[in-house]
Amino acid sequence: MKVEEKVALCAIRQHQDSHIEIDQACCSRCPTRICLRACPAGLYSLSDESAPIKLDHSGCLECGTCMIVCPLSAVSWNYPAPGFGIHYRHG
Ligand code: SF4
Ligand code: SF4
Repeated sequence: MKVEEKVALCAIRQHQDSHIEIDQACCSRCPTRICLRACPAGLYSLSDESAPIKLDHSGCLECGTCMIVCPLSAVSWNYPAPGFGIHYRHG
């Protein structure tokens, strides 16, 4: 089964507030921007606004990859509020 097929099995109850914060000042001088490639749900993207990196937290799989791979420790990660976030339908 492909990753995309596995992701499609998940159910996510979105919270309006993001459980992940990014230090955009770090992103401005990031040598890799590896978050753009490492997030399995593809939630990181380049922005043409004042902040260089955009994150759509609503599809987060809560894997923690973005926090681990960030070379500048720019990702502040918390679990979503109780009752929100991902539910894995098959354990
Ligand atoms: S890897 Fe970290 S510092 Fe680099 S762009 Fe992504 S979040 Fe910002
Ligand atoms: S925790 Fe995982 S799914 Fe969520 S934004 Fe980070 S890398 Fe993407």
